Amino acid sequence: MDVLKEIRTEIDSVDGELIKLFAKRLALVKKVGEVKHQHGLPIYVPEREADMLAARRQEAEKIGVPADLIEDVLRRFMRESYTSENHFGFKTVNPDIKKIVVVGGNGKLGGLFVRFLGLSGYTVEILGRQDWQRAEHILANTDVVIVCVPIANTLDTIKRLQPYLTPNMLLTDLTSVKRQPLQKMLEVHHGAVVGLHPMFGPDVASMAKQVIVRCDGRYPERYQWLLEQMAIWGAKIYQVEAAEHDHSMTYIQALRHFSTFANGLHLSKQPVKLANLLALSSPIYRLELAMIGRLFAQDGGLYADIILDKPENLAVIESLKDSYVESLKFFETGDKQGFIDTFNQVSQWFGEYSDLFMKESRQLLQQANDHRQHD
Ligand code: NAD
Repeated sequence: MDVLKEIRTEIDSVDGELIKLFAKRLALVKKVGEVKHQHGLPIYVPEREADMLAARRQEAEKIGVPADLIEDVLRRFMRESYTSENHFGFKTVNPDIKKIVVVGGNGKLGGLFVRFLGLSGYTVEILGRQDWQRAEHILANTDVVIVCVPIANTLDTIKRLQPYLTPNMLLTDLTSVKRQPLQKMLEVHHGAVVGLHPMFGPDVASMAKQVIVRCDGRYPERYQWLLEQMAIWGAKIYQVEAAEHDHSMTYIQALRHFSTFANGLHLSKQPVKLANLLALSSPIYRLELAMIGRLFAQDGGLYADIILDKPENLAVIESLKDSYVESLKFFETGDKQGFIDTFNQVSQWFGEYSDLFMKESRQLLQQANDHRQHD
């Protein structure tokens, strides 16, 4: 036992050294943040990240430290530094912009953009639900109008903006659906227009590596600076046609939110207690519960609007029923072989992504287990 005590004391002391080294590394990263801020460099540089990780993995392996362990630690460091780099603010890519108005800027996602635009040195004003009487004043001398109101209010809000829009303004929106808002913006405004969809929620600590979808509207040369600004925040911008975006969202959002909702609803009707399920859960079940529970911690209105957006969503959701019935039939009829054959067909459909997903999810599961606490 004394031996164990001695070793533990030594471990404590090594941990102390590690903490000091962590502090030193964080201080260096802070300096990088300052330099990046001064020179307007993006906070996320994929090549630098990949090169650094590859080099550290090699060094670690040479002295018998598992490469994955070092990569995990360094990735966690990087996340910390991306978040802390926000504190320095960002370069103002377009200093000619006098004012940006975020319509709905008091809300969750609008608030995030108000903060990031403010951190980038722009003058930002909010036009909230109660502010329309002062709209003329708020929108005077504005160069950019960003619409970020609930989906159900978006088309009306864009229309309502029409009398205040001048040809040199840039009109954009952050709505989770793109075809109709983009169409409406092009209809009411004759200046520059672009549709944007941030593929993340308002609770992100940093925009590093987050995706923002861009649907071009009119005069793209007039909004390149805004895309550049978001790239400096660390976001990756993907350009797609609005119709293609909405088609993909049928699966990425509508179908997923629906099935998550249905799973949560079904579970809530079962004679079980969540606490008991959690106590017995495997890491993957815990993660799955977290993903379901996360939905119900958010705004039902947003999800209803996403699902209701277009008939295609309901058609795909409706066909989910067929897959349930088909899947259940294997078991009702005891058709084990039928199930296995279909299982293998689906597995082939996933193809090489199966291995990738296995690897990615393994890391997530390990993390979920790391955070688990037993009494
Ligand atoms: P929210 O309800 O938190 O915010 C909306 C804000 O708009 C509120 O402050 C509300 O008072 C205001 N508002 C409503 N009608 C208005 C009007 N006519 N004029 C001015 N302001 C008005 O909603 P949110 O989650 O921030 O979503 C806003 C938009 O962002 C939606 O279009 C949504 O699709 C999109 N979006 C949200 C998320 C997310 O995870 N929350 C992610 C991507 C995109």
